Amino acid sequence: MAQPALDPPEPLALASAPVPEYGTGSLADLLPTLAAHLGVPGCTVAVPELAPADRNCVFLIDGLGWEQLRAHPEQAPYLTALLGSSRGGTGRPLTAGYPATTATSLASVGTGLVPGAHGLPGYTVRNPETGELMNQLRWNPWTQPHVWQPYPTIFQRAAKAGVHTAQVSAPAFATTPLTKVALSGGTFHGRLSGEERMDLAAEQLAAGDRSLVYTYYSEVDGNGHRYGVDSDAWRGQLVYVDGLVQRLAEQLPPRSALYVTADHGMIDIPFDELHRIDFDEDWELRAGVALLGGEGRARHVYAVPGAAGDVRAVWREVLGDRFWVAGRDEAIAAGWFGPQIDERVYGRLGDVIAAARDDVLITASEREPNESAMVGNHGSMTPLEQLVPLLEVRT
Ligand SMILES: [Zn+2]
Repeated sequence: MAQPALDPPEPLALASAPVPEYGTGSLADLLPTLAAHLGVPGCTVAVPELAPADRNCVFLIDGLGWEQLRAHPEQAPYLTALLGSSRGGTGRPLTAGYPATTATSLASVGTGLVPGAHGLPGYTVRNPETGELMNQLRWNPWTQPHVWQPYPTIFQRAAKAGVHTAQVSAPAFATTPLTKVALSGGTFHGRLSGEERMDLAAEQLAAGDRSLVYTYYSEVDGNGHRYGVDSDAWRGQLVYVDGLVQRLAEQLPPRSALYVTADHGMIDIPFDELHRIDFDEDWELRAGVALLGGEGRARHVYAVPGAAGDVRAVWREVLGDRFWVAGRDEAIAAGWFGPQIDERVYGRLGDVIAAARDDVLITASEREPNESAMVGNHGSMTPLEQLVPLLEVRT
């Protein structure tokens, strides 16, 4: 095995990764901008194109990427019309942040912080305190939420500044740790149907002179994972959310801005050995690896002590130019997780971090049988996954 110090650096390969636009056009920049417009102390305008409004609603559609939306105008006539407008900040993409996954993005949205600071930098990451993997979407195994993510949310800061704040989502999310660390502040309202959520979001928006309301829909993502981005089921979901957005937009009270966005996009991966590399069947990739974290297109690889350099070298060799493969400090230096990396977050990041650049996955058929069977996937920095819409309706 080669000595780590002798590994040839690959600055050109890593430099080609389209790093999220933290600070100017990422999901973490949205709520601080709206809060700054509402006069919340300590918040600054990061997305200058957005015009102030007294009542602000963010509708986050899980899994609806910018590229997927633009590719399906027939299923989404209302959203497509918003794409074409040049008013205000309408019709531009934001970058989700790395990795482009729900737990990471919801934390970025709610806290206004980059993944290196809020500390949910993956689907699963190692907890340095226990040495175990932690699933951040399911919060398994349970970890004290406010130790894991100690920062206040933008909703909490806005509520403290007298802004009426509310979240309208599925009842099942009311008390989850992810909701606690990402969306706390104001009142959580659980409603089962999309229609009820839209109606209640409009009501909550009108309930304050200055308001900040968040609402959410999950099944574009769910159907994309199960059936693929171009499936009939996925298209049906797009038709449905297009109607939901219109329903909410038509009920907006005066002096409102509705922002439609998403947590990440999606890419379908063919089911063959060329596009799906099974970690559990690949002795080369497994050598020196203590834990495999992340997800198929955004892996955190935790090496056994002393093996990080070797693991990086082997992963680079095996994966070639199909993945960006970085050591932890290389990924940090390249800005993948944002300009701020808290000390408590550093050890959660993989010793080696592998981000897909082609239509490929690193599955794990034994460790992750369910995830490995998904048609649609996301996580990496390609435009299909990384770009999310920022569409605006104003009254
Ligand atoms: Zn997803």
